[in-house]
Amino acid sequence: MEIRIHRGANQIGGCITEIKSGNCRVFIDLGSNLPGSEGQEFSEEEIINMTSGADAIFYTHIHGDHIGLRKYVPSSILQYIGSGAKKVLACQLEALKKFDELEKLESFKTYEVGKKIDAGGKGRISVTPYTVSHSAFDSYMLKIECEGKVILHTGDFRKHGYLGKGLSPTLEKHVGQVDIIITEATMLGRKSEKVISENDIQENVSHYLHNHKYVFALCSSTDIDRLAGFKEACRKNGRNLVVSRYQEDVFKIFTEYAKDYNRKFNKNNELYYFEKCFVLYNIYARSVIGKLGREGFLMLITPSMFNLVKHMKLIFSKQPSYLIYSMWHGYAEEGKSYSNTKIIELRKLFEGNILDGVKDGVHTSGHADVETLAEVCRIINPRLGIIPIHKDNNDDIELHKVFAPYKIFTEAINVLDGVTVYIS
Ligand SMILES: [Zn+2]
Ligand SMILES: [Zn+2]
Repeated sequence: MEIRIHRGANQIGGCITEIKSGNCRVFIDLGSNLPGSEGQEFSEEEIINMTSGADAIFYTHIHGDHIGLRKYVPSSILQYIGSGAKKVLACQLEALKKFDELEKLESFKTYEVGKKIDAGGKGRISVTPYTVSHSAFDSYMLKIECEGKVILHTGDFRKHGYLGKGLSPTLEKHVGQVDIIITEATMLGRKSEKVISENDIQENVSHYLHNHKYVFALCSSTDIDRLAGFKEACRKNGRNLVVSRYQEDVFKIFTEYAKDYNRKFNKNNELYYFEKCFVLYNIYARSVIGKLGREGFLMLITPSMFNLVKHMKLIFSKQPSYLIYSMWHGYAEEGKSYSNTKIIELRKLFEGNILDGVKDGVHTSGHADVETLAEVCRIINPRLGIIPIHKDNNDDIELHKVFAPYKIFTEAINVLDGVTVYIS
């Protein structure tokens, strides 16, 4: 068996992993580089060559640093993604009017939790997905069985989201004995960043909504946990959760999946029900101004809504408006390769009134903290070792501090017990 880390061993995002056994080849994720990445992006031709003859490609979740290069893959190759992820992605592509990508997406197959897929039908490599908590809706880790060995590819995951409590039981009951774990290790280089739970964020936002009537929030439209926290904070304080039509469409998918889940497992958890939001069609309608003015709101915005936000600040000027900045701080830094000028401009509208990211308890990482990384390895006890990906170019001492006593594959070529691991 060969495991090839085409990219991701020494950078966060842009992950591409290949597993090969005989004439069967499977890819996990085809991510594009994150903004500000120094590495050269793969060309269409390079991706076509890389994936040529592959039996299947499995995507762990919908973040661009895991699916961004899918657009170059010929439709003849089988591609799999979670069914919720596929629907949300279709929603995004429609909103962005990327109709050719939408057409390609239609040929994607979907996988289901715990249902094993024989990749390419050759009986050589099988893949079983399991739900993980991450900052994107419908994210998975993948258990890969090949030549009598088990590889666990974690995708991006964490324990401090609402679904995080399922992590240890899933590993213990379903994943079981593992030979090699390919794990994300984003937080290895971000140990000073404070990691709080999504529940803590919900409480903090609730406190802010109690004190402030007019609140805007910058946050990813597919980060179901964060959005659920905002929704609950609004409910507790009688504020309106104001959303665009696109966000309403995404919420419908979240709600549909939550209801299906509750029906299937006879549960009654409404955390992910997003039915009671206020869809903004016309901010100039008197009834809208009256209701939002009286009851207050938390409005989900995107960086391109500068003019609308500016107008709304004038309409609701009786009290100061606040901005909840619930994204990575890097986008808001000036003069960096990863800066986002639209975000910087939007933030300027709220100078002095920003509830700012991790600092003010309104943002937390989508990735496992180092204690969780160590805990996962303790639980699955990988027989052959660990391949850390989705991380900066950390030194060996740092890696061993977290992953000891297990073997860590870091060399360009590693051979052990019939497995060859290539790391680019
Ligand atoms: Zn990622
Ligand atoms: Zn991600």
